[in-house]
Amino acid sequence: MKSANSPSLSPNHVCPACGLLCDDLPMDGVNGLTDTRRCQKSQRFFALALASQDNSPSLAGKKCDLNTALQAAATILRDSQQPLFAGLGTEVQGMRAALRLAEKCHATLDHMHSEATLRNTLAMQNSGWQTTTLSEVKNRADLILAIGTDIVSSHPRFFEKLVWNKDSLFNKGTPSVIYLAVDEADTQAGISPDGTKPTVLRADKTALPAIMNTLHALCNPAYAKSNKTASVAGLSMAALSALLEKIQAAQYAVVVWSASELAYPHAELTVQSITQLIAKLNMQTRVTGLSLNSGDGDSSVQQTNTWLSGYPSRNRFVRGQAIYDTKQFSSAEQLKSCDALLWVSTFNPHPPPSYQGPIIAIGHAHMPFEHPPAVFIPVSVPAVDDGGTLFRMDSSIALPLRKLRDSRLPRFADVIGQIEALI
Ligand code: SF4
Repeated sequence: MKSANSPSLSPNHVCPACGLLCDDLPMDGVNGLTDTRRCQKSQRFFALALASQDNSPSLAGKKCDLNTALQAAATILRDSQQPLFAGLGTEVQGMRAALRLAEKCHATLDHMHSEATLRNTLAMQNSGWQTTTLSEVKNRADLILAIGTDIVSSHPRFFEKLVWNKDSLFNKGTPSVIYLAVDEADTQAGISPDGTKPTVLRADKTALPAIMNTLHALCNPAYAKSNKTASVAGLSMAALSALLEKIQAAQYAVVVWSASELAYPHAELTVQSITQLIAKLNMQTRVTGLSLNSGDGDSSVQQTNTWLSGYPSRNRFVRGQAIYDTKQFSSAEQLKSCDALLWVSTFNPHPPPSYQGPIIAIGHAHMPFEHPPAVFIPVSVPAVDDGGTLFRMDSSIALPLRKLRDSRLPRFADVIGQIEALI
């Protein structure tokens, strides 16, 4: 059953279900995405957000009014010496409010996808990187190299909007597509509209460190000439050499990876190897990188956190100073010692992690719980019940979110502001 408040067709509504932030699909306040063939991920996102649900706040599973829930949340945070604000699935204004409250409570902040983000951050902090924007991909890319990802599982319309588009500024022609180190990935999306199949170099993602090292080595003509090794991780040297030749022959190659899909120890070294290969190949032709984000407002939260505190998440304010520690301030570490957990997930109903202390859960009305939290406050879903601002995955553009329907659900930023006022 759907809520049917203020159904209105919105042709340029921004979809926040992935980092592409498409704004070209028709939506309405009853059905969400009205052309459900265009993107199933978007359709699922809006269908769940629009599905009716009991929107009452609760204390330990018992319904209460909003003021009672706000008071209870403020009491928990006032009594806490070391709270953890985790999840942080919100947009720019929500993160601004969370930061103000965190400073007041001396809370540690950690986004739910920061483990993946950190793989990129560590590589960038260590040696810098050369990345591009979605507009540049759309207008210039003549080769897409997808490393360890099929791209479309997380960003479904990537090829439709950026690769097979007919409206590039520079008449770039149809790009070639190469997949490297994909296993079960569906590579159908890489078949061009004229039927040209992508090149697929199948290998296990965990072999990427060896594959990337080999690609680096093959850039050295002396190594390439004297090398006697026949293959690496099941990929022949001839295939890897051909891959390098294709990149070097391209005018504007874009190397795409997804840090969340590189889920193995020290994967930041793989990211660094990718970005250093990009830098090396840039000496001969134009090659650039594009990292897919993980979602739940991760790009926006990290941007907001960085410009307001100087650091991405996994930070804390102590006597007004922000401090940053990628290991000690991880949720996994903090859950061992914190004395209260504020869990935030407004885009999707992600449940809080298992934790014995008091949990204040603020987020999607459909959030499931293993055990009822001390406080639960359902809030509006950005781009459905409310507006907001989100950064696109390339972090170059922030787009305004608009509401699809009238809703009685409170805004996350307002809820946090009210809790802050009560402390
Ligand atoms: S590709 Fe992403 S942003 Fe675009 S409609 Fe699908 S889920 Fe939404």
